[in-house]
Amino acid sequence: MKEVDVLILGSGPAGNTAAIYCSRAGLKPVVLAGLKMPGGSLTNTTDIENFPGFPEGIDGSELIDRQQEQAKKFGAVYEFDEVESVDFSGSKKILKTQMKEEYSASAVVIATGSLYKLLGAKGETEFAGRGVSYCATCDGFFFKGREVVVVGGGDTAFEEALYLANICSSVKLVHRREEFRASKIMVERAKKHNNIEFILNTVVEEILGEDELVNRVRLLDIKTGATREMQTAAVFVAIGSLPQTGFLGTALEKDDQGYIKLNNLNSQATNIPGAFAAGDCTDPTFRQAIIAAGAGARAGIEAERYLLD
Ligand SMILES: Cc1cc2nc3c(=O)[nH]c(=O)nc-3n(C[C@H](O)[C@H](O)[C@H](O)COP(=O)(O)OP(=O)(O)OC[C@H]3O[C@@H](n4cnc5c(N)ncnc54)[C@H](O)[C@@H]3O)c2cc1C
Repeated sequence: MKEVDVLILGSGPAGNTAAIYCSRAGLKPVVLAGLKMPGGSLTNTTDIENFPGFPEGIDGSELIDRQQEQAKKFGAVYEFDEVESVDFSGSKKILKTQMKEEYSASAVVIATGSLYKLLGAKGETEFAGRGVSYCATCDGFFFKGREVVVVGGGDTAFEEALYLANICSSVKLVHRREEFRASKIMVERAKKHNNIEFILNTVVEEILGEDELVNRVRLLDIKTGATREMQTAAVFVAIGSLPQTGFLGTALEKDDQGYIKLNNLNSQATNIPGAFAAGDCTDPTFRQAIIAAGAGARAGIEAERYLLD
């Protein structure tokens, strides 16, 4: 059993920032970086243009490397490992990992992120980052003045479509059903934009392109069975995301989608004393690096204060 003051789960912006704050407070945090995607979601992207301090933009992996270097400089220790199960019933938190280690921690910061749901269309993974995106706030600007497609029928898809309608020349919202899951107010708002068009009862069968960039999609009308190709510069997939919180079981409170519930808006504390959570695993709404980093800072400060008490 390894005894630590603070164990941080995740090495994305939330975990790294919590590690910077905890290590500068003299706590020697151990960060479990994760095994499937050490460094988190940003390691999948090259151009980060909205993280403050980098006017020329920065590569996602480089931003993560710099954050980790900063945390290590102050004493944080990174391990390539991933938590499999937890026991939060005692005053010490017990966590078992895939590498068969067992940790006993006085405080934990859970920053395990979330994964975007994939569409499953042909060409989706091939063109990821080359016209296929899961985040309009992140990538919309790259398609300024162009025609784009959004896939989905919930509030997220409408938020993406409304955001893109202000940047792109046209937005085609492709939805597999006749009715939307999105709230009425979002649908009404979208209808007021004359550059948003709804394509209903339709799925994206294939994403196609040339020179490694998306330039069209093949659509299937599921009522008639007819297929057609449509020009587009990008496909924004907005069908939801999956918080990486399954390993927690019922050890702390989550919402019905699996996002970790926080006690209140001014805190990263969960319903378990000494267990804090930050970043995309708590946040179905914003899912941005700077917001995850801010939440990681708060979680780090709160963990340090908890240990002082
Ligand atoms: C393709 C792409 C492009 C993006 N572009 C931008 C952008 O331009 N600007 C922007 O602000 N945001 C962007 N985002 C969103 C941004 O990446 C996320 O909002 C941010 O990374 C969330 O940070 P996080 O620390 O909460 O989670 P993540 O960065 O996802 O990190 C999660 C960490 O938890 C680890 N982990 C998972 N399970 C376990 C476990 N059981 N035990 C231990 N560790 C575990 C993972 O290995 C990982 O290290 C983009 C996302 C994607 C996918």
